[in-house]
Amino acid sequence: MKKLSPLQEKDLKYIFHPCSQMKDYETLAPMVIKEGKGIYLTDEFGNTYMDCVSSWWVNLFGHSNSRINEALITQVKKLEHVIFVNFTHEPAIELGERLISVAPKGLEKLIFAENGASSVEIALKISFQYHQQKGNPNKKRFISLINAYHGETLGALGVTDIDLFTSIYKPLIHESIKVKGPNCYSCEYNKKSETCEAECFEHMQKIIEKNHEEISAVIIEPMVQGGAGMRIYSPIYLKKLRKLTKEYNLHFIADEIATGFGRTGKMFAVEHAEISPDIMCVAKGLTAGYFPMSLTLITNEIYSAFYDEYQTGKSFLHSHSYSGNPLGCAIAVETLKIFQEENILDMITKKSFYLKKKALEIFKSHPNVGEYRQIGLIGALEIFVNPKTNEGFSHNERAGFEIYKIALKKGAILRPLGNVIYFMPPYIITEEEIDKMLTICKESLDEYIASRIN
Ligand SMILES: *Cc1c(COP(=O)(O)O)cnc(C)c1O
Repeated sequence: MKKLSPLQEKDLKYIFHPCSQMKDYETLAPMVIKEGKGIYLTDEFGNTYMDCVSSWWVNLFGHSNSRINEALITQVKKLEHVIFVNFTHEPAIELGERLISVAPKGLEKLIFAENGASSVEIALKISFQYHQQKGNPNKKRFISLINAYHGETLGALGVTDIDLFTSIYKPLIHESIKVKGPNCYSCEYNKKSETCEAECFEHMQKIIEKNHEEISAVIIEPMVQGGAGMRIYSPIYLKKLRKLTKEYNLHFIADEIATGFGRTGKMFAVEHAEISPDIMCVAKGLTAGYFPMSLTLITNEIYSAFYDEYQTGKSFLHSHSYSGNPLGCAIAVETLKIFQEENILDMITKKSFYLKKKALEIFKSHPNVGEYRQIGLIGALEIFVNPKTNEGFSHNERAGFEIYKIALKKGAILRPLGNVIYFMPPYIITEEEIDKMLTICKESLDEYIASRIN
């Protein structure tokens, strides 16, 4: 075991990290980050790393962003928190007004929570309760896609389909109906997602037609299934889903937790399909990587099913002690102001164009890359031992993890998803930094392949 710093030793003494086998830290101790500035993080030894994954997909405008720092400091001097039942405050009201003005049409009310998984819980609960109160007591189930990721609390795990997170908890989980969704890397219809008609929607169509009487909602990650390995698909799929869910009185829940706030090149990914969901979950980019806060947006139609005399018992009971926290709201307001005042969506378009051009130059004919795909500022490489024969790296080889470790030594954080390496940088990344990120990625991949052969 490498010698640990005193801080690393203490960390391992007290802390159980998320999404980790703690024993792995014997070979790679947790890095103690002392400072963040822009897209860079600096550790206790003074090494700097490019944050190519936006600190788990949350950061938008860089670490220690001066505008957001200022908004936070101003707010904390006025009011840090207040109970959100019977009380409210300006930052929450301003956030409501600003967000509703940019949200997909028809979403008009917001419900606060503290993380993405909780916003999914709210979406599921409110959809279920809506149908109960509307006289459809049989609508008790949900539909979600195979390989979906919607968070890791027990309710959210019910609609998630990634074994790593779900399998041990199966006895505790209320399972949704899992439907085969788009799989554009190896399309069963031999189509391309840019030109197809989302033929794969037929699986969803069959399930909905057969089961709609007992279905409350369909939940989906619009345009890209993140946890599945950044699987990008056609907006036509979403259009078809919108049409059918309307026809059969099912809620369309858009989980925009990863895709919201410009990540796919539009403010919200459902805009690629020009549709509006009934319920939309946002978190991650909502506070630009600064604060744990999430929102579930709903239509007035849903809201009105809960609006009645107290004695009817139709209230929606879902609360968290930090619901509507003013610091989070002030940060989210500033985030939306930055979008508007600094033309962030144009900036994303330009940078994603550059990223795509450069990434294709490097990876299109790379012998270990099956595909480079991208939407907005999400880029992903599907890596193989040999893509021509579909020979992949075995699960236990942990190729992604090994490449991650090599890239770290070179100064870039490139956290893999299985055998997919992805780029999800803060929007402020420069063209030079994009070049550097891609170079480090290529070198790390090549070094890993070489070490494997030797
Ligand atoms: C991250 C994520 C979640 C869960 O959000 P947390 O804040 O981590 O609980 C849910 N759905 C999607 C699509 C996500 O990317």
